Amino acid sequence: MRQPACVQVLSNIPNVTERPRLMEIRLTNTYAREKQVFEPSDPDRVTMYVCGPTVYSYAHIGNARPPVVFDVLYRLLRAKFGADHVVYAVNFTDVDDKIIDASQETGEPISTITQRYEQIYREDMAALGNLEPTFRPRATEHIGDMIALMEDLAAKGHAYQGESGLWFHVPSMETYGRLSKRNRDDMIAGARVEVGADKKDPADFALWKAAKDGEPDAAKWDSPFGVGRPGWAIECSAMAKAKLGETIDIHGGGQDLIFPHHENEIAQSECAHGGKPFARYWLHNGFLSMDSEKMSKSLGNVKLVHQLLEKWPGEVLRMALLSAHYRGPLDWTDALLEQSRATLDRLYNALRRMSDVVVEDVEPPAGLVAALCDDLNTPQALAELSRLATEANKAKDADKPRLKGELLAGGALMGLLQQDPDQWARGDDSDAARIDALVAERIAARKAKDFAKADQIRNDLAAEGVEIMDGPQGSTWRKV
Ligand code: AMP
Ligand code: ZN
Repeated sequence: MRQPACVQVLSNIPNVTERPRLMEIRLTNTYAREKQVFEPSDPDRVTMYVCGPTVYSYAHIGNARPPVVFDVLYRLLRAKFGADHVVYAVNFTDVDDKIIDASQETGEPISTITQRYEQIYREDMAALGNLEPTFRPRATEHIGDMIALMEDLAAKGHAYQGESGLWFHVPSMETYGRLSKRNRDDMIAGARVEVGADKKDPADFALWKAAKDGEPDAAKWDSPFGVGRPGWAIECSAMAKAKLGETIDIHGGGQDLIFPHHENEIAQSECAHGGKPFARYWLHNGFLSMDSEKMSKSLGNVKLVHQLLEKWPGEVLRMALLSAHYRGPLDWTDALLEQSRATLDRLYNALRRMSDVVVEDVEPPAGLVAALCDDLNTPQALAELSRLATEANKAKDADKPRLKGELLAGGALMGLLQQDPDQWARGDDSDAARIDALVAERIAARKAKDFAKADQIRNDLAAEGVEIMDGPQGSTWRKV
């Protein structure tokens, strides 16, 4: 039988009374408002859906928090249930009012815009060390599934046709609002954003939006409800069903999606499926802020992942995102980035000192696994990595294979420490190439007896933290 990773770790732990706590993954379920033991419906097919980006511009680092947090959960689930037994879907919203606006403003076809930003998003997420999800469905490839779901809702009396499209009738669902625990007044205030003179109830929301004059053909589909395009929430309900099934184990996203987006996903899926639960565990990450204000495109206080990657290695950004517990706030500052780089330098230096140590298969350290199993306590898990590095720096040779193995296995569970430590010390490739060229220039200057120039290059590099080491084999360098 397959051995869950959390259980394998336990075999090394003498204290038997600790077992049940460590064996379980516990997650804070927004739906229940408490931390619960995670039990999938089927341990051979654990399913997770996370709402993905609307692809009309660059992702900011706040948008990257859910993909990084849920990537750590994906890795933990794979370790526990087996890599082939976890199915993870993150969608692309490639039809939306904002995309239509962008196309009308720039004159570019919709597909050019969505393909460009989808590609950039994929590259950004890979640079942050995220594994590729099992599925990345695009909304425009599931219009038929959305129509089928809407037909079901209409047939069951949960949807009605208006002039501006098809509406979900909120009073037709008794339990609407359970996830967000909103009262009716709050709900109406939230839903009022969606104006529609043809709504029966102010809380009703759009399933299908009738096409307006002048809108591009690429954002229009025929349907039994007229020519138009889907509302945002029906996209997720249909894609989750198509890729994962009617009931999924885990549904994730940022806290701002709880209402109305996730509330509406629940309403659509559960009403279409005769009350069958849509998602069994709802997980929501807290906001990333700058100067205590939520980072958001509408406020304009954003740092784009793409720009940050020009200055910082993706792993530093990942470390910074994991430095706070996912449910709490995280303030994005230069100091946080400097600190994250310093922590990684320290961890990679410990590995570098053990470059020659040969490692057999080693399990991730029990303390780190326990931290992650406890509602993804990444700050605690990072503290465990730091503790291991301190221990490794003082360790006897006999203990080094275990310590190196634990650092690497623990890092892998968090998507960290998988680079060559020497490469890390040298910095990223473009920077390394530039420094290599300067070092070569200095050697040439010395050969030409232009010592002033050679010294100048050495001093310039030293000023940016690069030390040149001259030896019998030639000159090498390292970042200090
Ligand atoms: P959006 O592009 O606004 O739909 O956001 C995409 C994802 O990023 C959603 O899961 C949001 O909840 C999440 N998100 C947006 N802004 C932030 C933020 N400042 N901090 C954390 N998550 C965010
Ligand atoms: Zn969604």
